[in-house]
Amino acid sequence: MIAKQRPAYAEWLQSTNNISQQFLAFGGRADVVSLAGGLPAAELYPVAAIQAATERALTRHGTAALEYGAIEGFPALRQLIAARVSAETGGTFTAANVLVTTGSMQALDLIGKVLLDAGDLIVAQSPTYLGALDSWRPRGPRYHKLDWEGEDAGFTTALAQAKFGYSVPNYSNPTGVLVSQDRRAALLDKVIAAGTWLVEDDPYQSIQLDGPPGPSILSQYAARHAGPYDGPVIYLGTLSKSLVPGLRVGWVIAAPGMIQTLALAKQASDLSSSMFTHAVALELLEQNFDQEHGRSIVPHYRERRDALCDEASRRLADWFDWEVPVGGMFVWMRNRDRTIDTDELYRFAVEEKVAFVPSSVFDFTGEDRFAMRVNFTRSSPEVIREGMRRLERAIGNYCSARPQLSGLRP
Ligand code: PMP
Repeated sequence: MIAKQRPAYAEWLQSTNNISQQFLAFGGRADVVSLAGGLPAAELYPVAAIQAATERALTRHGTAALEYGAIEGFPALRQLIAARVSAETGGTFTAANVLVTTGSMQALDLIGKVLLDAGDLIVAQSPTYLGALDSWRPRGPRYHKLDWEGEDAGFTTALAQAKFGYSVPNYSNPTGVLVSQDRRAALLDKVIAAGTWLVEDDPYQSIQLDGPPGPSILSQYAARHAGPYDGPVIYLGTLSKSLVPGLRVGWVIAAPGMIQTLALAKQASDLSSSMFTHAVALELLEQNFDQEHGRSIVPHYRERRDALCDEASRRLADWFDWEVPVGGMFVWMRNRDRTIDTDELYRFAVEEKVAFVPSSVFDFTGEDRFAMRVNFTRSSPEVIREGMRRLERAIGNYCSARPQLSGLRP
């Protein structure tokens, strides 16, 4: 009997890529220097503290930590997050403003589910976090570039038509850029005038390598508006970078109506997050352990950033330009004269056993192929330096494989 053809996969899959899967796989290969993923340093994970918190959580909550739980999250954790956000921003936030999610990645997914219909417009910074592009791809959204400079005449109209704006103002992914307070305020003004939502995605806040980044856009809103929070900013936090990604604990801070709507979508997504990890997170957050730990890892990350930028200056400066990031996890290297296509370079890099992320995956259109994101948090300074040596060799190989570029070799 001839087997019948099975149904095709959904159409949106033709426009996606599995690059995140590839990076995570590289992370597990000892022979590859992976500067690709946005991963913290595993050797700094506080295993003993999490073990002790787990003991305490199970003793304190027993079976309640092992149940399906409230879709919005473990109630005590929501309350604690609300109290923290109130203290940090000076605003009035309650548990009704908090949804605990499976990492902030789930929050991005849920936002797409509740706000986007097919072909809707998003105003997003460009380049954009690839996980965000991934999570909204099934809706086939259109994008307009977020204009920080105030130079785009069509920006106000685009914002008024957009379902939401999206930004990572603290040490952005992929560029590492820290957005100034003035630009944050100007964006908030425009969002309010446009009557749309603004997603402020803030996973890197704790990785302050050269001093504090200043108030979030959420804080700016709270400073202007007294009373219970009901504003347009949908703020995303996570324990993934300050503590560990494996707990998969993130949160959304938003107007109560938005939280209820996201909770409705979450019901169909996972029924309930893990109350177990919420209870463990509660133990850690009650002691401000995440903040203490977050501060303790910063000197290590600073050393790694400096090692990367120092070695890159010696080896890559003929081809790439970059700014030293003041926080976060990434250096964004742009090819100086657009002669190096980083999608192509990537193949040569993998042959030399070093990985980075090419810029095309952060671009709405996939057309920017002239930059690369390089991570400095995952590997030791020595490994990072070795990564730069391999990258230098890969660029050399790439240039000689393309005769018209051979003149570029130093
Ligand atoms: N947003 C941004 C900008 C990120 O860089 C990441 C992690 N790479 C996430 C969201 C998702 O983080 P998590 O789901 O681990 O909280």
